[in-house]
Amino acid sequence: MASKCEENITLPDGRNVKTITSVVEANEKDVDIAVEAATKAFNEKWIHVNGQERGRLINKFADLLERDLDELAAIEALDNGKAYTIAKSEDLPFTITVFRYFAGWCDKIHGKVIETQGDKFCYTRHEPIGVCGAIIPWNYPLLMVAWKLGPALACGNTIVLKTSELTPLTALKVAALFKEAGFPKGVVNVLSGFGPTAGAAIASHMKIDKVAFTGSTTTGRSIMKAAADSNLKKVSLELGGKSPNIILADSDLEEAVKWAYQGIYANHGQCCCAGSRVYVEDSIYDNFVEKFKTYAQNIKVGDPFHKDTFQGPQISQRQFDRIMGYIEAGKKEGATLLLGGKRHGDKGFFVCPTIFTDVVKFYSKHIYSYELLYDFLLCNIFKNENMTIMQEEIFGPVVAIAKFKTIDEVIEKAHLTKYGLAAAVFTKDITRAIKISNALRAGTVWVNCYNVVNTNAPFGGFKESGFGRELGKYALELYTQVKTVQINLEC
Ligand code: NAD
Repeated sequence: MASKCEENITLPDGRNVKTITSVVEANEKDVDIAVEAATKAFNEKWIHVNGQERGRLINKFADLLERDLDELAAIEALDNGKAYTIAKSEDLPFTITVFRYFAGWCDKIHGKVIETQGDKFCYTRHEPIGVCGAIIPWNYPLLMVAWKLGPALACGNTIVLKTSELTPLTALKVAALFKEAGFPKGVVNVLSGFGPTAGAAIASHMKIDKVAFTGSTTTGRSIMKAAADSNLKKVSLELGGKSPNIILADSDLEEAVKWAYQGIYANHGQCCCAGSRVYVEDSIYDNFVEKFKTYAQNIKVGDPFHKDTFQGPQISQRQFDRIMGYIEAGKKEGATLLLGGKRHGDKGFFVCPTIFTDVVKFYSKHIYSYELLYDFLLCNIFKNENMTIMQEEIFGPVVAIAKFKTIDEVIEKAHLTKYGLAAAVFTKDITRAIKISNALRAGTVWVNCYNVVNTNAPFGGFKESGFGRELGKYALELYTQVKTVQINLEC
């Protein structure tokens, strides 16, 4: 890592910013070198290491994460802009728990004996896949390392991990800790590189047996194509979301507001499962909006190293511009901007917590083109919620709050996007909670809570939010392949 601390850079808009450090960029050749190392390590060493020993090594590594927790939290805050106190109290403990959880699985991965016809002995083995590629995003740099490497290593695979070009730092420190823990050389390979070069090289590499990806749906699609066009490597994708959060009139309003606020504003809105569409039953709508606004107004935005900060800067100029673009689209398409909608402060990529209401498009104006006529029919007759901010993943602290009257209506509305990562429902009526949860097409449904993700419960998407389940026992299926052995006992 070549340090270039404090170097000044002038951004296109004229503002001066400082570089905290720079790292070496990995290219396609570096991917080849890493794949060679991972293949050699898999064939010559790692395949011979038994489950108990793998578990011991992962636990030793988790001990080192605990030892260096403060430093890692500080690097994570520098790397990503998230609040240091949150990195220390949430991201780091969760990361450690994930590694310890999968360490526990190492010696419990096994097949079955199957009764078959005739005098045969049939059994299955759950074997590692081999060399696994992992391409991760910038919103939870360290946690994403854990979600990918934990199960991959537990199942006996070797890894080539590419971090996001925006957040390479913690993973480099983590790579050193894997070495210190005693993992054989070549088992874990960490590359800092860009998507179209290093990332694409992983997706299309002929010697990578599986690729696990978290990021945008667009990139996920290109990774799947690259896998199909190369060696048909196995693919798992954890992609975007536009998750609906449904608040019924019989819910505990204070609790619903508190969770809904966490649901959208946690991690600066940069969560794949962010509850960015909040649907509130009309009889409590005004009350909910007023209380929610009070919470959002009091969010402490600022320096990630200040002890009270809840929301730091967005990850980059590009994301900042994207979010501002969505805010402009919301205003242009007729939504009411209730709060925020602008830059916070005068430097850095800080966005004020933003609330939009009146987010269902309604045309009463003159229709002067076929395009508008189509829009009119879609909005007013089929009641489609096609406002951009109700459809697209903003990945920022921007929420859209809408009203609904009936449960059938809100379930229909919840399904009006291409995504299906998560959803939530708030009600005191258990029957309605279960019926709505069953009806929602989403990989996770929270009842009377939001963003509750457990190490031992699966997480993943329906629809265009991806496929494959990370965390829990389900994650082991992503990193093992089943071999059937048939032995003829007649000879
Ligand atoms: P992205 O999908 O472009 O990047 C995620 C990772 O994929 C990064 O490591 C990147 O280098 C890599 N990548 C990019 N292009 C690639 C390619 N052609 N082949 C292989 N790898 C490639 O996401 P982004 O640009 O960082 O963010 C854009 C949007 O993605 C966000 O606004 C958000 O909507 C979404 N996103 C979702 C998640 C999530 O957790 N689901 C995380 C980050 C971003």
